[in-house]
Amino acid sequence: MATSPSIVWLRDDLRIVDNPALTAAVERGGAVVVLFLLDEQSPGARPLGGASRWWLHGSLTALATELADRGAQLALRSGAAGTVIPALVDEIGAGAVYWNRRYGALREVDAALKQRLRADGLEVQSFGASLLFEPWTITTGAGDPYRVFTPFWRACLAADEPRAPLPAPASITGLAIDGTALDGTTLESWSLLPTRPDWAAGLREAWTPGEAGARARLEHFVENGLPLYHRRDEPGIEATSRLSPHLRFGELSPHQVWARLRGPLAPAAIANRPKFLSEIGWREFSYSILFHQPTIATENVRRDFDAFPWQAPDPAVLEAWQSGRTGIPLVDAGMRQLWHSGWMHNRVRMIVASLLTKNLLIDWRIGEEWFWDTLVDADEASNAASWQWVAGSGADAAPYFRVFNPVLQAERFDPDGTYRRRWVPELDSPAYPRPIVDLAASRTAALAAYEVVKAAKRG
Ligand SMILES: Cc1cc2nc3c(=O)[nH]c(=O)nc-3n(C[C@H](O)[C@H](O)[C@H](O)COP(=O)(O)OP(=O)(O)OC[C@H]3O[C@@H](n4cnc5c(N)ncnc54)[C@H](O)[C@@H]3O)c2cc1C
Repeated sequence: MATSPSIVWLRDDLRIVDNPALTAAVERGGAVVVLFLLDEQSPGARPLGGASRWWLHGSLTALATELADRGAQLALRSGAAGTVIPALVDEIGAGAVYWNRRYGALREVDAALKQRLRADGLEVQSFGASLLFEPWTITTGAGDPYRVFTPFWRACLAADEPRAPLPAPASITGLAIDGTALDGTTLESWSLLPTRPDWAAGLREAWTPGEAGARARLEHFVENGLPLYHRRDEPGIEATSRLSPHLRFGELSPHQVWARLRGPLAPAAIANRPKFLSEIGWREFSYSILFHQPTIATENVRRDFDAFPWQAPDPAVLEAWQSGRTGIPLVDAGMRQLWHSGWMHNRVRMIVASLLTKNLLIDWRIGEEWFWDTLVDADEASNAASWQWVAGSGADAAPYFRVFNPVLQAERFDPDGTYRRRWVPELDSPAYPRPIVDLAASRTAALAAYEVVKAAKRG
């Protein structure tokens, strides 16, 4: 009897290289339906922001081409997974469903679906594909999750070496069904691209979504950026990888990055390897926090911060921060880089977040949402964990009294002003606004506000 078809349900793993779920389906034999589901209905689903929607369109288009080259089509559906997937199973008579794991609130959707499909007699398997270390395997001696990054990463490095990446299947036996990305109609109907106005010109200029673009970016970084990575804090030079959106959408797995970093490298690159891998480690740490607290985008990790006296934002002040018109050049440069290209340099992210949460006393959740909408790498773990890290409410957070001074930071990390002038060309002209906040006085006010948290902790 012929093997029944399988479904590979792709989510944050839009690639064919090193995709364990896809490999399992091909090895099982029979036809394979590769499915992407736009699910904004399941409990815990957070609709993507504008920049991520733009990225998703490009990534699905690239994936459809990669699949077509190997004989398969990308099927697109929308709706709640718990409804759509069982319906698709019935439609094609599937005998197996495979996916790669996710780690936030949606894993409950996956668990319920797995149970239900197995009860119906299907073979269902999930795989580890987007983290080097499964969060439940890295625990303290007492079996608890780590709260501090350094011992977490030390434990990861002492664990088993991450597996080698899997090759892409040479060919996939496809099954034609309605709603394939190549005919374009379903993808267009999702309206992922902005039209009126089309604000995506800067994104198109900066990025090539899809796994070929991701691999090219990795190679470019290994040759040009990694030897300079000790200067990663300088936003005016290109010393970091800019792999974040590719990792976010799973166009590249961390296993591929790990394996490449173990491969041939120039001596200057070898010296910077541990630091770069530890940044990949921060991504793992963020996911570990998310795994243990799926509500990190909305709730303080440190509950004593629930007492923090955030101020209701003045709409004009918030608008000035969002649009890069605060009158503080490094902050404005960062916010404009974000708006134009969907990405911001890490150090500048910390500085703009510190200004919002400390000098302006605006709740970190408001900043997190703006980033969620505008970043191409907006990530359910790293965005929330990083905002909480800066605000002081997170796991292993920066001490609250660490209020970044954007003027001193600019002198230190952008000494010749390359970055500020690139994004704020009118810097020295009368058109440039005066600062919206007094940095010294607002720092003092922030420290006074923090006393409320300390008092709540004592009481
Ligand atoms: C307020 C704030 C919000 C952030 N939001 C996000 C987000 O939504 N998505 C996101 O991927 N990163 C986020 N970061 C972390 C970091 O700024 C970006 O990962 C990094 O700037 C991406 O650039 P890169 O790929 O050139 O980094 P590289 O320095 O080349 O690092 C390599 C990879 O490591 C990971 N990484 C690096 N630093 C961190 C970090 N601090 N935390 C978690 N992972 C890290 C990323 O996947 C990155 O691509 C945020 C940081 C701050 C301070």
